[in-house]
Order: sequence, then C-alpha cells, then structure tokens
Amino acid sequence: MYDLKIPSSPASGYRGRFAPSPTGPLHAGSLVAALGSWLDAKKQGGKWLLRIEDLDTPRCVRGADQEIMRQLLSCGLQWDEEVIWQSERQDTYQKASEVLNQASRLYSCSCSRQMIANTLAQQGITTPRNQDMIYPKTCRPEILRPQVLLGNQGAWRLALPDALIIEFSDRRLGTQKQNLNEAVGDFVLRRNDGLFTYQLAVVVDDAAQGITHIVRGEDLLSNTARQIHLQHLLGYRSPQYLHLPLVLDEYGEKLSKQTLATAIHTRNPQQALMELKKAGEYLGLKNLPVAANASIAEWLLAATRAWQY
Ligand code: GLU
Repeated sequence: MYDLKIPSSPASGYRGRFAPSPTGPLHAGSLVAALGSWLDAKKQGGKWLLRIEDLDTPRCVRGADQEIMRQLLSCGLQWDEEVIWQSERQDTYQKASEVLNQASRLYSCSCSRQMIANTLAQQGITTPRNQDMIYPKTCRPEILRPQVLLGNQGAWRLALPDALIIEFSDRRLGTQKQNLNEAVGDFVLRRNDGLFTYQLAVVVDDAAQGITHIVRGEDLLSNTARQIHLQHLLGYRSPQYLHLPLVLDEYGEKLSKQTLATAIHTRNPQQALMELKKAGEYLGLKNLPVAANASIAEWLLAATRAWQY
C-alpha cells in the first residue's frame, strides 16, 4: 500500500492495538482512536494489531469489518500481524470463565432487567438514565463455590469482593480510582443469550495478543477498572493505558455509530489525508512540518515524529 518507513524495532516490546466493533464503517471518532493508537505504537517502535470485536452479533453489520479494514489501509494505517475476530474465539472465553468459576468467582443469574429495576426501586435506588443498574445481588449465593455452568442457565456474573478500589494511572488523565461495587456492582461476563461480554473478551484477547499499551477513546475509561480487576483474577499483566479525547458533535455528544455519525471518506488519497488531518487535530497535531502536497506516508511520518503523550 504505502511505503511507510517506520519499521518496528524488535527491542521495543511495545504491542498496541485497535479493536473496533464492526457496527458500521469508521467515523471521525473511531479514526481518532485508530490514528492515536497507531501513532503511539510507531513512535515507540512497536507493533500495532487489529482485532475485530464482533462479539455482540445482533449489533454487528455484515461487511463492516471489511469496510473498516479498507478504510484503515486507505489511510495508511497498516496492521502488523494477522487480524483476529472475536466471534471465532468463544472457546477461549469459555476457558477463561471456567478459570474464574473454579476460583469461585462466578454465579449464574436469572434476573431480567425489569426484575432488577423493580428490586432497586423497592430499595429506593434510582439509576440515572445514562448509567447501568448496579445489580442488587439477588441471585448471588451466600457462599460462592464453583458451579456447573451449563449452556442456557441465565447470565454469569462476577462476584466482586467487598471493598474493591481499583487504582491505575492513565498517561493523559493521571491517577484514576474506581470503587467497583459502587460504580458497577457484580457485572455480567456472559449474557443470558450465551454471548460473552466485551469486558471478558477484551481482557482475554489483550492478554492473548500480548498487548502492552492500550490507547483508546475516553468513553471507555469507566470500563478500565473492571478490566484491571479481571486481569488480576486471571493472572494477566496489566497494560498501560492512554485514553484519548473524544470527538464531540455540535450538541456536545460523543460521535458514535448510535448517533449516526457519518463514515469518513477515503475513496481517494486526498480524501483520506483530509480525514487524517482532521483526526490529527483532535490529537493536538496541527501545522505539521510537511509540504502542502505531502503524501499520506509523509504526513504520517511527520505525525509520528510530533506525537507526544
Ligand atoms: N470494541 C470497542 C469499541 O469499538 C473498543 C474496545 C477497546 O478499545 O477496548 O468501542
């Protein structure tokens, strides 16, 4: 595609990734995450991997993975190893959940959303509209033991220890702290329709791909403490985190496929370069020292040199 003279250095050990959910083509917000993670990897002589997070099959759009890959390549963002698709990795997630089960950390839950809402209402707890309900532990057994987890017996939840405060450092936002019981409660690792959740799959796959640095949008910041807790339970090393500023629309809302953000235009190199420049601006990359008629490769090289987080 493009001849990008930014070789990865074997000594670096840096392994980063971009992990889009194929619910639609890349939009301005997802390009920022792709570009930021690519630049961070290249700056540090590392590798940049691509993982398609197509676990939530009902939300995935057929062909969106291919379109995302085409868009990335048009922007000169080439991945360094084979792409993995989460939909092909159910057995791996099953094995990881069995490890948690054997450690007496899982229990099955048959509550519907409505039942949870009713229980919380009886306890006088109201959940703000944009937040997930904190599970009132209705199905949690007094004493946790490994369970026989069968195919269709409801959701599987992770039993959190009582006082669990996760602290980590974000490279942009500094020290972060989350009390998992207060912020999220016993969260679901496998839904009652049998699908493993993002929280489990992302942790298992980041470890399987040896990811050392996670660079992604700030909208995912509130998930990080859950993921660090799972890493501890599964005996994985925690990567370093950098959460990038979000691209907001004119109403101050995060751009997302749900808000029907429009796809970036990458039909020709000029369009792709325009999109890269816009994404770069969100990342503080303005007025790079490149010629007015610079190619994508030249712009990416200048952006890599200028990258500093
Ligand atoms: N698949 C997630 C998304 O598209 C990103 C996961 C991650 O970077 O951890 O929002």
